[in-house]
Amino acid sequence: MDLRTVPVSALPGVGAKRFEAIKSLGIENIYDLLFYFPFRYEDMEVKSLDDAIDQEKILLKGIVASDPVVARFGYKKNRLNVRIIVENESVMVTFFNQPWLKDKFVTGNEVAVYGKWNQNRRAITGMKVIGDGHAEDSIDSVYSVNKNIHQKTLINLIKAAYEEYSDQIKTIIPERILEKYHLMNDKDMVQGMHFPKNDEQNELARRTAKFREFFLFECGIQNMKSQDQVNQIGLLENYDKKYIEDFIDNLPFDLTTAQARVTQEILEDMNSTHHMNRLLQGDVGSGKTIVAVIAMLASVTAGYQAAIMAPTEILAQQHFEKIGKLLAPLKIRTSILTGSQTKKEHDAIADNVRAGKTNVIVGTHALIQDSVEFKDLGLIVIDEQHRFGVNQRKDLREKGNNPDVLAMTATPIPRTLAITTYGDMDVSRIDELPAGRKKIETYWIRSQKIEQMYRFVTKELADKAQIYVVTPLISESEKIDLKNAELIYDKFNELFAPKYKIGLLHGQMPNDQKEDVMNQFSHQKIDVLVSTTVIEVGVDVPNASVMVIYDANRFGLSQLHQLRGRVGRGEKQSYCILIADPKNETALERMKILTSTNDGFVLAEEDLKMRGAGDVLGSRQSGLPDFKVGDPVADINILETAQIEAEAMFKDEAMEKPENKVLKSFLNDEFEQLNNFD
Ligand code: ADP
Ligand code: MG
Repeated sequence: MDLRTVPVSALPGVGAKRFEAIKSLGIENIYDLLFYFPFRYEDMEVKSLDDAIDQEKILLKGIVASDPVVARFGYKKNRLNVRIIVENESVMVTFFNQPWLKDKFVTGNEVAVYGKWNQNRRAITGMKVIGDGHAEDSIDSVYSVNKNIHQKTLINLIKAAYEEYSDQIKTIIPERILEKYHLMNDKDMVQGMHFPKNDEQNELARRTAKFREFFLFECGIQNMKSQDQVNQIGLLENYDKKYIEDFIDNLPFDLTTAQARVTQEILEDMNSTHHMNRLLQGDVGSGKTIVAVIAMLASVTAGYQAAIMAPTEILAQQHFEKIGKLLAPLKIRTSILTGSQTKKEHDAIADNVRAGKTNVIVGTHALIQDSVEFKDLGLIVIDEQHRFGVNQRKDLREKGNNPDVLAMTATPIPRTLAITTYGDMDVSRIDELPAGRKKIETYWIRSQKIEQMYRFVTKELADKAQIYVVTPLISESEKIDLKNAELIYDKFNELFAPKYKIGLLHGQMPNDQKEDVMNQFSHQKIDVLVSTTVIEVGVDVPNASVMVIYDANRFGLSQLHQLRGRVGRGEKQSYCILIADPKNETALERMKILTSTNDGFVLAEEDLKMRGAGDVLGSRQSGLPDFKVGDPVADINILETAQIEAEAMFKDEAMEKPENKVLKSFLNDEFEQLNNFD
């Protein structure tokens, strides 16, 4: 019998009203009920009388001294009294209105009673009794319920369901896997989750439940992946190999080994009917842009258009200039679409894009407007993809006939997200920086020591360094924030002008002014650029070598790492100076981690641990699935194991083997839902 087909109303005592109540917890059938696990456990340890505190809830263990006495009082009320011997002392146990408990107290037997301790009376008002000689430490399951249904009611329903149906619980995970990882079968797991006899049993049940949850989830991902390959025949972009090789040979630098490798992975995907859905991950400064340019050029030689979407105007503008410069000699037509263009400008460019006169289109989210249509979009590159929502990515994808997608990110994807949220994407990693880069030295100072920073800046300026000074958005009001940036700008002018040129950049400036300031900084006409976080992602001025960050405690780890990544892009020794007065342990910890590592991967993992996935990437964007038992960050090892096993299950027709029959039929029913979660 499939327990998913038996409604909870099949249990005695569950009428229409109670059925509605339990449905409000998302429980419809017996399977749901049995797999509705406690969200925490109250571990009750047996207390010694010496340690008991008045009015505290404790668990006492003793020997029943005499038969219990049940006495009535008031209207329909009764009281059970029984004496037990605890550590040679006689303790009075009282239970109200539970006369049936008297069977649990057999003279001479051991019992454990959980209840409220009365120090003066040496008595305990019982709440729970564990008799029958099983007076071990007890674990209480606590369920998440709502106003429609009581904890107790739910527990009783689960008990009833377990008694009636436990023999029908089929184990879904194949035996071989359970044995390999020493996990429980589903029946034992259900018992160990709801009614654990001891810690060990509960521990193992929890481990099993986590594995099971992750494994089923990963099977869903694997299924989606294989569906994608079957249904979505991608474009065959038959690019000009010789042309691309020549282009790479003529670059001003040699590709790093990692760049060459990922380029190959991408080009192979493009030159096949396999639909490319690939994530290019590489730390800040690892050189992702050039890889994207090569891929876009390949797409153009195959007769398609290619587009790259960036999260900010400044970054789009920078890409447009750099890409334009690289491609112009090849007679590749590049244009840019952003939100700040006039309607006239926009329409003229959009016309060319529609007519196929433009080969490479750079833009912000303005690219996904309805007015933008492509003639034949072959490749989409999404830069800093974590800055975009899932829908924006999808919208752009729908602008073409199933174009290949290359999503790039400088924020390393923690293992957790790589396995869950990005599980259906192929991942390419650039795991080295171009040769000659020096480690960025990071220092943290408190604001009272700010003079040290000025002295350092003086020295660096004398040494021809270019410097970023970044200040965060602190208040809700943009005006006040701007004032903050302007104050710092004034201060730097006071200290360093006219010998050095100071620039100011913020989000409220008109676009042409922003461009102008960025250009001056790129061409070393500005020495110190005071900026808000508009420069956070992507900006590339290789000569800049010092990054000063004000109020660094206001940024998250990943964001600080991104900002720091604006320097260290050239041959010069680079520095990052964090000015921060951390107000709590976590903030202090962040400063320490930043000064001790440059490894974006380590930082992203730490960030995820400290703040949770939703906060790191924005809950809308993290897309972290809602697991019930497992914590994809804390239980990463179980998650990884589950992923490996799920992957194997989808290879070589493994699912067709007789020993995987139960799993297969279970998944077949589940996939309908899983396939809809995009
Ligand atoms: P990110 O991966 O952060 O987007 P970019 O693509 O902006 O990095 O590249 C950072 C800098 O490194 C750029 O100035 C780029 O021209 C340069 N660069 C990229 N690849 C190489 C290479 N193989 N050798 C030397 N410099 C490189
Ligand atoms: Mg970049």
